[in-house]
Amino acid sequence: MTFEKTCFVALEDVIAVRFTCANCGTSVIVPVKEMLEGKVDVGLHIVRRCQCGEESNFGTGTLETENLIRFNKLLAGLPATLKARNIHFALQIECSE
Ligand SMILES: [Zn+2]
Repeated sequence: MTFEKTCFVALEDVIAVRFTCANCGTSVIVPVKEMLEGKVDVGLHIVRRCQCGEESNFGTGTLETENLIRFNKLLAGLPATLKARNIHFALQIECSE
């Protein structure tokens, strides 16, 4: 008999997103709730220069920047939409041991 372990993350289980500088490892954690309440502009965290001086290489107003902003906003807003519907949605992830 073979068993396979699968792991899923429901969008409503996501409480924050993290942006980490690939150069120095400094991170900023943005709570989803604050995005929903408009208390934080996630776009600023995407385009701004890190304290170490490294650029994120996401330009202001570019399509890829707008897509990442849109993704974060969808991530924050979709749980409320899904809650009102008759469907469960989750992302499959690698299971940690
Ligand atoms: Zn940095």
